[in-house]
Amino acid sequence: MPLSWNEIKNRSSIWKDLLSLFYPHICAACGRNTPPHGHVVCVSCLYKLPKTNFHLHKENPFTERFWGRLSLQAGAAQFFFTKGSRTQQLIHQLKYKNKQEIGVQMGKLYGAQLRESQLFRQVDAIVPVPLHPKKEWSRGYNQSALFAQGLSETLGKPLLNRALQRSTYAESQTQKSREERLDNIARAFVIGDAGALRGKHILLVDDVLTTGATLEACGLRLLDVPGVQLSMATMAITMD
Ligand SMILES: [Zn+2]
Repeated sequence: MPLSWNEIKNRSSIWKDLLSLFYPHICAACGRNTPPHGHVVCVSCLYKLPKTNFHLHKENPFTERFWGRLSLQAGAAQFFFTKGSRTQQLIHQLKYKNKQEIGVQMGKLYGAQLRESQLFRQVDAIVPVPLHPKKEWSRGYNQSALFAQGLSETLGKPLLNRALQRSTYAESQTQKSREERLDNIARAFVIGDAGALRGKHILLVDDVLTTGATLEACGLRLLDVPGVQLSMATMAITMD
């Protein structure tokens, strides 16, 4: 007896469910819905992820965090980061679950937004915050570099992956005072290619802005290079 259309549909959805056990393609932000083909987040999350729209304002909570620390041309984060939020889930999947595509796709999306902003139009090149080589080796990739790659693609600006590097200086961060930790971070970065940076407006890119200690350390190194102007972008910003 031939199957009815509904039976075929039911069976095919059972198959899809079975297949998804082996080839899970669920939204990286909500973990429930199926995203459109080739996308990492579902349509609902794409809409509901908490965008900051900081790129529309010269002064905003991102740039305020660096007041008195260094000179920023522009600064913005793509999403607000709160505990248990879609953003947290997205970043967790990017950092710890080998979902490298999240970084590239969110970077592309954000690049399309930044392209519309007068503030970010002056950027000449993009530099990601480097991971410690040991960490990059064990993770297999630098999530900030993936986000930077996406930004580079839609902004149409070159990605300078080796311009800023981790120094070989590295001590354990545990059992240290706050001052010692900050001093450690400040010494953790070195310029890898001053020639590529000289005279350029650099967009420094990281995954999440919290205290800003890492971005500040990197930014100060970049600003040591003659003629460098500095802007920053991150995928998320904590707000507490
Ligand atoms: Zn979703």
